[in-house]
Amino acid sequence: MPEWPEMETYRQQLSPLVCGLTIRHVDVNREKTINEPAEAFQAALTGRKIMFVERRGKHLLFHLDDGNRLLLHLMLGGYLYYGPHAEKDESRFQVIFTFEDGNKLFFGGLRLGYLHRITAKTALERFREIGPEPFDPRLTEEAFVAMLDKKRGKLKPALVDQKWIAGIGNFYSDEICFEAGVVPFADIPSLSDGTKRNVYRAMRKVLTEAAEAGGYMDQKLTAADTFTGGFAERCRVYGREGEPCSRCGGTIRMETVSSRKMFYCPSCQGTN
Ligand SMILES: [Zn+2]
Repeated sequence: MPEWPEMETYRQQLSPLVCGLTIRHVDVNREKTINEPAEAFQAALTGRKIMFVERRGKHLLFHLDDGNRLLLHLMLGGYLYYGPHAEKDESRFQVIFTFEDGNKLFFGGLRLGYLHRITAKTALERFREIGPEPFDPRLTEEAFVAMLDKKRGKLKPALVDQKWIAGIGNFYSDEICFEAGVVPFADIPSLSDGTKRNVYRAMRKVLTEAAEAGGYMDQKLTAADTFTGGFAERCRVYGREGEPCSRCGGTIRMETVSSRKMFYCPSCQGTN
């Protein structure tokens, strides 16, 4: 599932491509992806412009020139493609926008994901339910440590809890724990103050590096896109069970804790 770096990669790449352009045509091939009848969705969006693309957690929020918003969550398997035509049967995309310049934005793989047309007020209400952004200037190291001081349970479930902190999922939570040198199933109350600070620094370092490398998703945004997915080969533990640890040479292990997969190095990640 795309996380903070993947959605940030989409936001940065999409903004110059779609902002300011009028949507001339809207195809809806799966009505369940949207939140109103296809005819209403098409009528409301045809002739509209996307003014601005915002990311919040794992969502993208398209600001329209009529004041409304399009809320996109890709969930598991969702992806975007942009260009004059798709490289596969276009009827397989759930929603397609055609812009005035002939380019199209394809929304694919949205079986669990969605694209909802909502008011600005509803968008604010939805985002109020989500925890702070990892790079919110108010989320200082002290504030993050204070959040951990109040939290019970294991570390990974906290990091992937969107109500606790936004944008982190199964992939980057394991990478963050590796970077911080602590196992993902560590009990939060047993963590030292130093480890809590390391988790904060690791979170910012890993997410920054991943976004700068284009995230880990393998679907390209455009035919010429050589940026997206650059982090896949640089990840240190996720999906690397049985491989040697890049830090200590130990063997990466995968364990399932409370039905959640956790990848870690037993040799150089501690429990507190
Ligand atoms: Zn190691």
